[in-house]
Amino acid sequence: MSHTPTRADFDQHMVPNYSPQKVIPVRGEGSRLWDQDGREYIDFAGGIAVNSLGHCHPVMVEALKTQGEKLWHLSNVYTNEPALALARELTERTFADKVYLCSSGGEANEAALKLARRWAFDNYGEQKNRIISFGKSFHGRTFFTVSVGGQPKYSQGFGPVPGGIVHAEYNNLDSVRELIGDTTCAVMVEPIQGEGGIIPATAEFLEGLRALCDEHNALLVFDEVQTGVGRTGSFYSYMDYGVTPDILTSAKGLGGGFPVGAMLTTDRVAPAMAIGTHGSTYGGNALASAVALAGVCHIDTPEVLAGVAKRHDLFREHLEEINRKHGVFKEIRGKGLLIGAEMAPEYEGRAKDILPLAIEEGLMALIAGPNVLRMTPSLVVPEADIKEGLARLERAVARLVAGQ
Ligand SMILES: *Cc1c(COP(=O)(O)O)cnc(C)c1O
Repeated sequence: MSHTPTRADFDQHMVPNYSPQKVIPVRGEGSRLWDQDGREYIDFAGGIAVNSLGHCHPVMVEALKTQGEKLWHLSNVYTNEPALALARELTERTFADKVYLCSSGGEANEAALKLARRWAFDNYGEQKNRIISFGKSFHGRTFFTVSVGGQPKYSQGFGPVPGGIVHAEYNNLDSVRELIGDTTCAVMVEPIQGEGGIIPATAEFLEGLRALCDEHNALLVFDEVQTGVGRTGSFYSYMDYGVTPDILTSAKGLGGGFPVGAMLTTDRVAPAMAIGTHGSTYGGNALASAVALAGVCHIDTPEVLAGVAKRHDLFREHLEEINRKHGVFKEIRGKGLLIGAEMAPEYEGRAKDILPLAIEEGLMALIAGPNVLRMTPSLVVPEADIKEGLARLERAVARLVAGQ
């Protein structure tokens, strides 16, 4: 590589669907990143809730290297040991009996939606095809998942959307009662809406959805792509709520930075995904599965999960302190290390203005919609990095308040 890539190359060579920040990180270790000029950053973005063990965690590097020297990929004409081991761990650690492996959250949800429709078709007939999801929900960028997602801007301009999809209001059971019926095949919901602004479901809401699905023979699908694999302090967040879905989707933190997704389901539902009904060339890729397996076994331990809850308290304490001084937030919410700070009315829509200031101060963070600052750091981010990162955030917030 004779040419060192720069941010200008993005505009020249890549389709303009993203608008990345100016700095280009080139190296990461734990919760720290370094850019092309050697500047250091604390990473509270974590690749959008992906780098669950930070950057280059020894457990993940070891799994990648070991598998990388053995076997990468076979296709599904053969099975492989890491995929089988991952599927076994996922079923033993959850409600699920069966697993479908893929490479992203959108693909996991696509599989879940197709499975729900096919299960209803096989068991009740083709009229049972209605899918209920929620306003502001996000389920991925495939055409089916943007249609089910509750943000119309993501499906507009792409032609006719698939039919049979309706949207109810999140945390409002009455709005679901109005829409659900015997032709409903599935209700898809995020236990905490991520992209929609870090909005947790109430326990009554999820319990009520479970009861309504049971009453109407519909499948309850939890999209845990963002909330899963320790992010909220339990292995999957349905465990906190004590409400068990029929299908659960996982990705993001599952691979800790390696592209992998999974759809989990039960023996009652799985047979609808019979031979030939669905598939993916990369699904169950040996390298991806080996990395995910190492991450899952490391994260789903009492020490790591308890550490997530402890770190949450530290974040909350410091964010509230920042807010006492600067009054920029209306509410700090979320669970575990999925944290959102909604802007106060005077700063309506300005969460995004904090990001470039934070980068100048040496901190990477995220937003969830224009009005919510989001933080999804490594589940094992050291306490010292949390404190230093929040000190940098405070400087960025002070500059926002001062109008700089
Ligand atoms: C990110 C996300 C997705 C999409 O995952 P991709 O890997 O980008 O396809 C789906 N659902 C939720 C809840 C997400 O946060």
